[in-house]
Amino acid sequence: MSRSPFRRVRLSLREAVLTATSYFVCAAIALQLTRFDGGIAIVWLAGPVLFARLSTTPRWRWGAIILACIPAALSASFLFGMQALAAIPLPLLCIAEAWLAAWLIRRLYPRFGRFQSLPEVASFLLVAGVLVPALTAFGAALSAHLARDLPYWPAWRDWYAGHALGLVTFAPPLLLTLRGEARQWFASSERSRMREAALLLGLVALASLLTFGQDRIPLVILPFIPTIAATLRLGRFGAVSSTLILVTIGLVFSLAGHGPTTLLQLPMGQKLQVLQIYFATIVLTILPLAAELRSRRRLVDRLHAAEALHRLVLDRMSDIVVRVNAEGVVRYASPSAMRVSGYDPAELLGQSMFRLIPPEDHEIIVEARRKALADPENHAIIEYRVRRKDGTLVWVESHMRGIVDDQGRTTGTVSIIREITQRRQLVEDLTVQAMTDHLTGACNRRAFDEALLVLLTPTPFGPAEDVTAGCLAVFDLDHFKHINDRYGHVAGDEVLVRFVSILRGAVREGDIVARLGGEEFAVLLGGLTLDQAHLVCERIRTRFEEASILDSLGNAVQATVSIGIASLVQGGQGRDILSQADDALYRAKRDGRNRTSLPIPSAAEEKRSA
Ligand code: GH3
Ligand code: MG
Ligand code: MG
Repeated sequence: MSRSPFRRVRLSLREAVLTATSYFVCAAIALQLTRFDGGIAIVWLAGPVLFARLSTTPRWRWGAIILACIPAALSASFLFGMQALAAIPLPLLCIAEAWLAAWLIRRLYPRFGRFQSLPEVASFLLVAGVLVPALTAFGAALSAHLARDLPYWPAWRDWYAGHALGLVTFAPPLLLTLRGEARQWFASSERSRMREAALLLGLVALASLLTFGQDRIPLVILPFIPTIAATLRLGRFGAVSSTLILVTIGLVFSLAGHGPTTLLQLPMGQKLQVLQIYFATIVLTILPLAAELRSRRRLVDRLHAAEALHRLVLDRMSDIVVRVNAEGVVRYASPSAMRVSGYDPAELLGQSMFRLIPPEDHEIIVEARRKALADPENHAIIEYRVRRKDGTLVWVESHMRGIVDDQGRTTGTVSIIREITQRRQLVEDLTVQAMTDHLTGACNRRAFDEALLVLLTPTPFGPAEDVTAGCLAVFDLDHFKHINDRYGHVAGDEVLVRFVSILRGAVREGDIVARLGGEEFAVLLGGLTLDQAHLVCERIRTRFEEASILDSLGNAVQATVSIGIASLVQGGQGRDILSQADDALYRAKRDGRNRTSLPIPSAAEEKRSA
């Protein structure tokens, strides 16, 4: 919205005139009603009016306001004040005081004006309640002394008390009103809240009337109760409205000669000073309270906003977030827990995290938790299984970290958990693929070498050497080239597949059946002696010989196999054992094929067996 310069001038003129008029009225009332024995006004309202206006106005408009207030101040002083030429500095000092206070507070607290925090309230009390009125009181006491021959220090005291207490008591409500606080409050509040406000402020008025409307019992503490209640329930609006009500009622009745001040055996001026101390006490109590409440409210609002954001992220996230205390009890589970585990997050709260995990996987979690709790800086990544509500198992990957409280103690863990069943399956499939022979489904050479290595590695608690771990048997189909040539490659493949199924059928579940290449195979017969292995191999050989394998034309394919066996000795070299078995196989071929050969016993072995 652009404003024409003309409109701006008109607005600032109106503002200046309005302030000057209010200043004149307040000064006139104060001078007329609160000056006693020709002294200084005891209750000073005009200063807070100008101070509040300057504090809510940009600096470039101050000049017009102050210029307009000078004639207002002078005329009020001439009409109702000391009416002496020597008293001219007094109204000018009043204006200087409001200006100085507004200027200084802006230096100390640039965002002054809303009483939102304790530092803001403290700066205001220091400037308006102590420094500025104490300073102007020196000049004012001198003027009053010269104009009316008033004693210097009592004049200083009356000015300081009137102006400091006036600023502290009246400036906050005026400021907040000028800033549109009351309007905003009404605009943003609901009906029920307004009813509550009406009730509380009504109670403040009632307590004020009970206190100031009678002269017998000094009930001065009574208004504190509804005033504090209004502050607690309605915030700054309540604090400011209730002080305004209390001060207005208190002043009107006291000036009319009623209320607890009548019980004091003091001149009227000092009675009003006591009254102002009372008002200032209330303001000093509830203004910081309101400011503190306000800053807490803002903190809570910020927390709510952060929490809302947090929830939004967690609700949208496909990963699960789980917080678990130091005992392993679930304290929080995000909504996505439902998708992965089938449990509603509410069902998981208060349960042990281990309830959903198969016992075989407990150890890896216990270990990761131990690390996370011991060193919250690091996070552990583990994979384990979770039993869903429907009983099926899913794989998850969990990134786990310790939670540290404000005293640096770890109080539990937080984990981000992702389902990885598909990934695990893929890896497993790839591993199987990398380890198996495509045509026959037997283990490939790589898998065979690894399995052989495992069998030959001595167990930590077993006897040191020469321990037979079983036997290795190698197989080579006889004249296979010839089979291919005669029946075709496809029939050759069929023979290979059939041979592997015969191998599988003859050995035990855990024994490794491998295709070493072409038409050569090997079997690791764990735990068998040479004689037992020989029996097994013979069975394989005869079954294969007797197997009826047909080619595509229905011709029977006759195939045989030659076999060599060697012992698996723990601590031995795979290479050596394989070549021993190959030697035996070679002999079987040489001796006419379709037979099983054992290794040639060494001289030492022969002696031992003899
Ligand atoms: P021997 O009795 O001396 O072992 O004679 P052989 O013919 O079996 O020996 P050789 O090693 O000379 O021939 C092996 C043949 O196996 C050659 C090759 O064509 C065939 N072969 C190798 N791999 C495959 C395969 O995957 N499928 C088929 N159908 N034949 C294969
Ligand atoms: Mg061969
Ligand atoms: Mg062969």
